[in-house]
Amino acid sequence: MPARTGKQYIESLSAVTQRAAIYLNGERVGDVTKVPMFQGPIAAVAEQYDMQHDPRYKDILTYLSPTTGDPVSTACMIPRSKEDVIKKRQAYKLHTDENFGYMGRAPHFMLSLVTGWYMNRENFGRAGPEFAANAERYYEYVRENDLFLTHVLINPQIDRSKTSSEQEDPYIHLGKVKETDEGIIVRGAKMLGTMGPLTEELVVVPFGGIAPGDHEYALAFSIPLDAPGLKLICREPFGHPKQHFDHPLSSRFEEIDCFAVFDNVLVPWDRVVVPGRPGSEDIVNGVARGGPMMADAGVQTTSQMLSQMELCTGIALKLADSVGITGFLHVQEKLGEMILMLELSRAAYYGSEALAVEGPGGVWAPGGMGLRAFRLLGIQMYERMIEIIRILAGGGFFQAPTGADMDNPEIRPLIDAFMRGREGYSAEERLSIFKLAWDVAGDAFGMRAQQYVHFHGGDPIRLMAAHYLNYNKEPLLKIVERALKGNGEMEVSPYQDPGGTRIGEEAPPPSPAASKDRATFGAYPAAAVPRRTRPRKDAG
Ligand SMILES: Cc1cc2nc3c(=O)[nH]c(=O)nc-3n(C[C@H](O)[C@H](O)[C@H](O)COP(=O)(O)OP(=O)(O)OC[C@H]3O[C@@H](n4cnc5c(N)ncnc54)[C@H](O)[C@@H]3O)c2cc1C
Repeated sequence: MPARTGKQYIESLSAVTQRAAIYLNGERVGDVTKVPMFQGPIAAVAEQYDMQHDPRYKDILTYLSPTTGDPVSTACMIPRSKEDVIKKRQAYKLHTDENFGYMGRAPHFMLSLVTGWYMNRENFGRAGPEFAANAERYYEYVRENDLFLTHVLINPQIDRSKTSSEQEDPYIHLGKVKETDEGIIVRGAKMLGTMGPLTEELVVVPFGGIAPGDHEYALAFSIPLDAPGLKLICREPFGHPKQHFDHPLSSRFEEIDCFAVFDNVLVPWDRVVVPGRPGSEDIVNGVARGGPMMADAGVQTTSQMLSQMELCTGIALKLADSVGITGFLHVQEKLGEMILMLELSRAAYYGSEALAVEGPGGVWAPGGMGLRAFRLLGIQMYERMIEIIRILAGGGFFQAPTGADMDNPEIRPLIDAFMRGREGYSAEERLSIFKLAWDVAGDAFGMRAQQYVHFHGGDPIRLMAAHYLNYNKEPLLKIVERALKGNGEMEVSPYQDPGGTRIGEEAPPPSPAASKDRATFGAYPAAAVPRRTRPRKDAG
């Protein structure tokens, strides 16, 4: 099937969720397309699919499938040139601009991750060639069927000081119970499936590090949402369906999150990519280490962050103007700060493709480490942007009658008289700007978005530490050496090119004494992964 339309997505979602076990507000919901709370987000996802057929966007959002020749999502394209890298960036940015970056887990996100699986298939093949073949087949399956997936990477927060096998019950963290002729039986829980109930399939891949010996938890696989024994438990929704005036973003882009419980779920062999056998820890721990796969994920994530930052900067400018505070020096300074943070992010984002490099197998990826720096320092920039919006808004957030009040003729004249902005801003216009600002900076929707930016790609503290540990520090230390010796004795610039180290380039092998500190478990430093302290309970 070529790139789908929104209608095709909704029909498929309706069919799969009628059979799936999805729980929301105490009830099993059945067909999610009939749930009022989900109407806005489903429509927003459908728009993402429809964009693939819009003559303005389709050449960027699709490319021709190498197997069928049909147009399929550009997120699945393997970049073979710098032009391909640029096309992928354009596609991601179009998708994230459409929802202002507030649907980080729109369909292209997971298409990009499964494309990463394909690019990483040799790693999966270390457990046996059938697993590399499974990664390839699954990639082709989601590409050709244009599926909407979610993923669950994280173990439930029960006791973070213990490994998976050291938890009270060996099947609290999702683990393998046994292998059968048909596949593997898995039991336990995983979080946090953003958009889970609105998707068709679930992908499981551990993140952050599996302790040595805990191979039964080193599982990567995919499973349809209606697999027997799989239950999705949603968090309380924050959306405001149909209240577009009062909640311009949260009425449309609420990304529901859910917790996945696997009660002896059978995962057929052809869906297994990492089988939870001895040695599987090394395979999953290696998945997140550099290379074109991570570079592609970095483009998707930073596209989403950039779209958010562009909206937030625009909101601050408009909000400040609407109430006449742009003449004050400190307001100018704060707006200037926002613009500079945005431009610094843009420079890293677009600059990385100027430094694009060809990697192993002829796969191209953005170069330098700018995307990674944007990804992590962007968290602080986004939080600062939200803080500035709040400082500029003052109590204006709460000088905020609802759309229903606007429709009441008894008070409408009062609202028009007292709640307008400076000259040129009607009450309706000022209120709509402040309500948009509240959605990003104050509403539960905005609070979740901040938490998303902070944590969705992992714990930034451990990721930042991993960058320190993995960074090739030699050229910088040579600069210090030259400063101590004086010019002339040493080469002026130790960098081979002005872009510095390349994505995926790591420090030379450490001395045995230092090796335990390196970030060898997924993306986290090994020292941050709990170690077993006592003989483990039998998980098999
Ligand atoms: C809005 C939102 C959406 C998300 N969507 C998804 C999704 O779609 N799919 C998915 O799989 N995940 C998703 N996540 C989960 C995300 O991957 C995790 O939140 C992130 O990896 C951090 O893990 P955690 O939440 O378990 O926090 P923890 O790892 O429990 O960390 C909590 C705190 O404890 C500290 N800490 C814990 N363990 C250690 C340690 N070993 N060393 C040092 N410090 C430690 C951390 O620094 C942090 O301050 C989402 C998260 C959010 C907030």
